[in-house]
Order: sequence, then C-alpha cells, then structure tokens
Amino acid sequence: MTRGMATLSPFQKFKRTLFRFRRKDDLSERVKRTLVRTLYTQPTSLAIGAINGIVSSCVAALVSGSTLIFGLCIVLTVIGVARIIAAFGLSPDNSGHSTRQLEGIYEIGAFSYAFVLGTIAATTLVLDVGAPVEVLMIANSTCYGVGICARNAGRPAIALGQLGLVLAPILAASLYIASVPFLFLAANILLLLPAMASITLNVFKVLRDSIGSAETSGRLAEKMRILARTDVVTGLANRAGLNHDLAEKLMDVADDKIIALIWLDLDRFKEVNDLLGHPVGDRVLAEIAQRLSEVSPESATVSRFGGDEFIIVTEVKDRLEVERLASELHAEIMRPVRLDGDLMQIHASIGIAMLPLDGTDADTLMQNADLALYHAKANGRRQTCFYDATMSRDLVRRREIEAELRAAIMKHELSIFFQPIIDLETGRIRAFEALVRWFHPQKGELRPDEFIPVAEETGVIITLGNWITAQAAKAAKQWPEDITLAVNLSPLQIKAPGAALGIINALREADLDPSRLELEVTESLFIDDHDSTGNFIEELSAIGVRFALDDFGTGYSSLGYIQKYPFSKIKVDRSFVSGPDVGKKTDAIIHAVAELGSKLEMDIVAEGLETVEQVRSVRAAGCTMGQGYYFSRAVPDYLAVMLLSDEEEDLNPRRKVS
Ligand code: C2E
Ligand code: CA
Ligand code: CA
Repeated sequence: MTRGMATLSPFQKFKRTLFRFRRKDDLSERVKRTLVRTLYTQPTSLAIGAINGIVSSCVAALVSGSTLIFGLCIVLTVIGVARIIAAFGLSPDNSGHSTRQLEGIYEIGAFSYAFVLGTIAATTLVLDVGAPVEVLMIANSTCYGVGICARNAGRPAIALGQLGLVLAPILAASLYIASVPFLFLAANILLLLPAMASITLNVFKVLRDSIGSAETSGRLAEKMRILARTDVVTGLANRAGLNHDLAEKLMDVADDKIIALIWLDLDRFKEVNDLLGHPVGDRVLAEIAQRLSEVSPESATVSRFGGDEFIIVTEVKDRLEVERLASELHAEIMRPVRLDGDLMQIHASIGIAMLPLDGTDADTLMQNADLALYHAKANGRRQTCFYDATMSRDLVRRREIEAELRAAIMKHELSIFFQPIIDLETGRIRAFEALVRWFHPQKGELRPDEFIPVAEETGVIITLGNWITAQAAKAAKQWPEDITLAVNLSPLQIKAPGAALGIINALREADLDPSRLELEVTESLFIDDHDSTGNFIEELSAIGVRFALDDFGTGYSSLGYIQKYPFSKIKVDRSFVSGPDVGKKTDAIIHAVAELGSKLEMDIVAEGLETVEQVRSVRAAGCTMGQGYYFSRAVPDYLAVMLLSDEEEDLNPRRKVS
C-alpha cells in the first residue's frame, strides 16, 4: 500500500492512477528501449557478419600482397573482435547502461566497421588488385550494407549510416577511376541509397507501431489489473487485492514467521449510512482507511473487504505484537471523526487469526478470523477476540441449535418456567417471571442464554416470543388476580412489525387482564431508539400493560429513557448483588437506584438473591422487591401454583426476612 496515496481523496487517487498510465513520454521511452534492444539481440548474426568481412579482407590482403590492405585488414579485425565482445557482453536488460549509452557504443563500432570495410573494397578497386578479389570485396561490402539495413531497421539512423559509410568509399573510388563500368557502379550505388532508405524507414515504422501498441495494451492490462484490485472509496486494496496479496504473503513467509489476519468490523455503521447518507458514510470510511494505513506496518496489506469491514494482513514477531497493533488500530478508529463541524465516534469489533497456529492456508485463516470476529460481536462488540479452537465447536453447536429451534416448539421440547418475585416488605409473592426452558432429547437442558441469541439472529424470536407470551399468559390466568406475570422481550421482537398485536392476541386468547402483564426490556432496546419502540410502548401502555427495565447497570445506564418511558420497575442486575465485583461501590449504586425508584414511585427489584445476607443488604439499601434462588428457582407452572397456595397457608416463612 502506497503511504502517500493515503492523504489524497479517493477521487484524486483514482485520477492519479489513471494519469500514470497516460504519460506519453514514458511510453515512447519504453518503445525506444525495446528498439535499441533489437540491436543487441542475436549477437551471433553480428559475429558471423563481422568474421565474414574480416576473412574476405584477409583473402584480399593475401591475394593482393598490398601492405595498405593488410593494415586496413588488421584495423577491421580489431574493430570486429571488439564488436563481437560488446555484442555478447552487453544487454539492455542487465548491463546497467542507459539506452543512450548502449546505442552510442553500438554506433561507434558499427560506423567504424562499415567505413573500414568499405575502404578496403575501395582500395582493391583503386589498386586494381584483380577482378576476383575486387568482386569479392564489392559483393561483401554491398551485401553487408543491404543486410545491415534489414537487421538494424529498428534504429534507421544507424542502419542507413552503416550503409552510407560502407558504400561511400566504393562510390568515391568508382568516380575516381571513372571508367564506364565503374561509372555504372557509382550510379547503382546512388540509386541503391534512397531505395534502401525508403525500405528501412518503412520497416522501422511497422516495427515501432507494433511495439508501441503491444506496450500500450500491456500497460492497459496492468492498469486494469490495478484498478480491479483497488477499492475506489478508500484507495485501499479491495477483496481481489487482498486475495492476491494474501496468497503472495503466504507463499513467501519464512518458516519461523507469523502472519496475522486482523478482521475489523465497524459497529453500527449501517446507522451512519441510514441517518447521514452514503456520501457521508463514504467519507467516514475513507478517513478510517487512512488511519488504519497509518498505524499498520509498511509491508502490511490494508484492505476494505466490503461494506464496513477491513482486513489487515501483516507479518509479526509474536502474539504480543498483534495485540499491540490491534489496540492501536482500535484506538485510531475510536478517535472522533470530524464531519462538517460535528464529531462522530466510531467503534469496531476485531477478530484475529494467525498463521501457522490457527491455519496454514488463506481460507482457514479467513474463516477463523471471521469466527473470532463473530465472537467479539456476540460478546457485546467493541472488543478484540483471538481465534481459539473452542470457537469452531461453539459454531457447530450454534448451527445445530439453529437447525432444531423451529421444530422444538412443535415437538413440545420448550416449556415455560416461573420464578417468583417477592415483596421484600411482606415476603409475599407479587409476580412471576416467565423464563423459557428447552429440554433437548439428546443435549439435555439448554440455557436461554444459548438459544435466545440464535433465535434473535435467525428471526425465530418473533414466533418464539409470541408463543412464550401466550403460554405464560395461560398459566397466569390460574393465579390470583393480584399476581403479575413478567415476560422478557427481545429488542428484535419489539421492532418487528405488528409486535404489539402479538402481545394483545396472547392476552386475549388467555383472557388475561393487560394490567397483569409486565414486559421486561433491556437497555439495549434504546441504543438505536426507533419510532417503532416508542409506538410499541405507547400502544401497550394505553391498554394497561406495564414495563420493567431489566438488567439495569450492565448497559449504558442512561437515565434519559427512564424519564422518557413509563417504567413501573427497575430490575438491578444480579452482578450488583452477587459475584466478584460486589462491594462498597455496587452498594452505593443500589442505594442511588433505590432512592431514584422511591422518588419516581417505581419498584426496585434486586435480582440474583442467593443468601439471606444479600436479601438484608438490598432491603436496607431500599430495594422494594427481590428475586433469586434464595426464594426459589424458576419452576414449572404447577409448582408456581403450589408456591402460591403454600403462601395462602403461610407455609413458607423463609420469604419474610426481618
Ligand atoms: P434475565 O431476564 O435476567 O433472567 C434472570 C436470569 O437469572 C434467569 O436465567 C434466572 O434463572 C437467573 N436467576 C434467577 N435467580 C438467580 C440467582 O439467585 N442466582 C443466579 N445465578 N441466577 C439467577 P435464565 O432463565 O437462564 O435466563 C437467562 C436470560 O435469558 C434471561 O435473563 C433473559 O434475558 C433471557 N430469557 C429467558 N427467558 C426468556 C424469554 O422467554 N424471552 C426472552 N426474550 N428472553 C428470555
Ligand atoms: Ca428478565
Ligand atoms: Ca435480569
């Protein structure tokens, strides 16, 4: 990933990428280099040509016995050998010389060789050494000149220079001798020069154009390849780019090295898009992309995997380094994003898998990082999870639950249990909370914490939720009029269209007075406060249904919605009553909540009471109601009825704590 690109806007990056491929100079320079390369290809043909000239000249020197020709022959041999060495030793691909230098070296050799060869031929004419030798040298020189035009047509100036230099001395000698046949020879040479010039230039044009278009299409293909691997919004690698880089990284990785695949998913980014529009969403993504590139190591692949998901692949020393990087990445994402004067805070969930520990191929690595990400999200988002093998087992179990949940209702494997909620003042049962149970024929009893989230994910919660309310309402019908039924509602159930109708139908079917029903909702319902939530609460409040705020203290604990919605109860989460964190602070919080409840005339229920000390303590703190194993676990409906009748006969003195 080019770091400099990160500071440009996505559009600028796109333009820059395109522009790079359009530069004409660059292209013609590359074509020129290819053409110069043709001078150095096939050094053998050059060697054969050079040796041929040298041997012919030696023959001329020996036959004529001329010391001048002999001297010229030595000069030609020196030049020829130097050229052969240069032809085999230099190459445009590995010599480290510039195109211009290579062309210059070739030029000196070619021109001097041509001129000396032509001079030897001319000398044989002037010295009149005899027809056979003269024919040999004229034929050798002209053939050399014509042949070289074809060979070096890629650089026409060199080709025609060689032709001119080899023929010029012969032309001069012919004119000097000036006999009729030699005048004809001179005329032939004069006609040959423009004819060969025209042929050479034509061949050159064809060569240049075809190399040019091959270059262009090659560069276009390269451009398409880069564009296909780049995400237009962020300038990062896209999914294809990631796949390509990941495959390369896995291939190159040393045995003792670790590769980390870090999968980031922005939390609730869909809301940014829905509320502020896609252009703003894109700007946020580009900003996040830039930050991720800045903190990632230089050699890392930073990619946008799609939507609001980013994947970073990088080589690391150890797990500690990944942890550090993940927390830096998270910190960067959390730094507020400025949007036209407003500040926006983004969070992310992160899943990490490492090679070779969690997988040795790209697919497994991706799959396991995805699983780790899923766990990070399921654990309440905004956190980093490293893959471990139990996650795969959990996934298998979830898949099984998912497959069996729908049928479970039909097969009567689900039932509703009831846990009493006690008035701490009188010790009497005031309500029962309906808690669903699944008795699986093979897996045994499944906890709602395990299957309710699956029901939410798959949408089964709507059917399941309505079924639970209907069953619980029928059971409640058997209880005395002053006993309330508390039913847990999932936020998803409430946001579904016709949610209120499902509750109203359940009440009607069981013929239960709406005022006897209390719906328990958690704070997560209000995080994305939709109109549908307000409408649901309003519609049911209007007919007398009451609402309780469940698990208070575990979420955002904002007081805003306590004021906004008509809650009759706040249930303080059991982590404030029992568990490792209980102490002075939690006690103070219970006190404060209880005081708030009494001011607002709400009941405060302490959940999870297991010991008499806990009951005393929450009562002293001001809680009005309690629920927990100390009083009773959740029991089947017939046992709930028994608890009530025991109470009538005052058989359960334990509930009254003084
Ligand atoms: P919750 O609404 O907070 O329910 C109270 C949970 O605390 C119940 O667990 C209950 O059995 C448990 N509990 C009660 N007293 C004690 C105690 O003294 N000590 C301890 N350690 N635990 C106690 P359960 O039944 O496993 O339910 C877990 C969660 O599943 C519930 O938490 C609720 O969020 C959800 N859930 C249960 N039934 C339903 C349902 O019908 N619909 C929906 N939407 N959610 C449900
Ligand atoms: Ca509850
Ligand atoms: Ca609760």
